[in-house]
Amino acid sequence: MYDRQNIFAKILRNEIPCDKVHEDEHSLFFKDINPQAKIHVLGIPKEPCVDFADFINNYSGDKVSNFFKSVELVISNLKIKDEGYRLITNSGVNGGQEVPHFHIHILAGEKIGRLR
Ligand code: AMP
Repeated sequence: MYDRQNIFAKILRNEIPCDKVHEDEHSLFFKDINPQAKIHVLGIPKEPCVDFADFINNYSGDKVSNFFKSVELVISNLKIKDEGYRLITNSGVNGGQEVPHFHIHILAGEKIGRLR
């Protein structure tokens, strides 16, 4: 069940600010407030989806495709393709998801270490 009071829902409703990187009709990208790399951008679909599985299973192929094309566009705009980047999405307790609105982390700008 989607929690409409989660912090990313509030950002989408412009109730709290964000450091916007890119926005289009179906997605919003903004800088992570607690960056884990020199470049740390979060990308979210505008749909009320809790996590990766919710987004993939409950929204149209067009919406899913549009979102991931926007992820790729932002990667292009950030000019991080050549040096490389890491995409992460956390889900559930074991994944360490803190904000229950599906999001992709884009990490770049330096070598991203191994998880352990
Ligand atoms: P996750 O653990 O995958 O749910 O990641 C949630 C991310 O959201 C964390 O990296 C937080 O630093 C980030 N975050 C939380 N609140 C904000 C905010 N208001 N603006 C930008 N990033 C945020």
